[in-house]
Amino acid sequence: MSLIKTSEEIELIRESARIVSKTLGMLAAEIKPGVTSLQLDALAETFIRDHDAIPGFLGLYDFPNTLCMSPNAQVVHGIPNDTPLESGDIISIDCGALKNGFYGDHAFTFEVGEVAAPTQKLLQVTKESLYEGIKEFKVGNRVGDVGHAIQQYTEAHGYGVVRELVGHGLGQEMHEKPEMPNYGRKGSGKKFQEGMVVAIEPMINQGTRRIKQLRDGWTILTADGKPSAHFEHNIAIVNGQPELLSTFDYIYESLGIKSDEELPFRSQKTNP
Ligand code: MG
Ligand code: MG
Repeated sequence: MSLIKTSEEIELIRESARIVSKTLGMLAAEIKPGVTSLQLDALAETFIRDHDAIPGFLGLYDFPNTLCMSPNAQVVHGIPNDTPLESGDIISIDCGALKNGFYGDHAFTFEVGEVAAPTQKLLQVTKESLYEGIKEFKVGNRVGDVGHAIQQYTEAHGYGVVRELVGHGLGQEMHEKPEMPNYGRKGSGKKFQEGMVVAIEPMINQGTRRIKQLRDGWTILTADGKPSAHFEHNIAIVNGQPELLSTFDYIYESLGIKSDEELPFRSQKTNP
């Protein structure tokens, strides 16, 4: 599909992204010690289908479930299982939805019960780095500007930026061009234009940036066993500037958190 989306196409991606946002908000209220990722996966599948959409990951490249559920040292692409969550865990949930032929795809790392302060810090910095990257997604900038911003922000805290997995363009395919690495050189790579839609998704490790993969062919985890965080938004360039198509507001509503982090990137015409 074209790198440049029409405003009608952007609205359809926004609709699919909103279904993912609401799914994550629903899940936020269900995440607690004792719950299994398979139970959450079943809730998400029902919720997405009830919104006249199809789970975007189920069957994509033969992935077996609706959600990628990656606890603790798992970076991304974890497969839901029947192990109960425990207090102190973190769990990255990545979710996709397909409606009207267009995808939404975003992710949030949740805390389960009481989480250690250094791990909380990893989540906070990773989420902040996502917005540092989003700021650079505007007309005239290039792919490397986004990656550079994320890399600089997270490495300043001593964290490792995963290289092997990257963000991407988004539309009628889940993964379109351009690739959006979370590292890079300022002023390098593809130039951004009005109407581009991407998923920006820093995957940040508390320790080494090195990763390994389980024999299931899916699960990516840190090489040193330390925790990893993953936050993802869907963003369009509208009037030259980054505009969020996804929102974490439903999550914050579920958790009773007040946040104005999305205000600079909010559409002028759409409220969540
Ligand atoms: Mg994703
Ligand atoms: Mg993605």
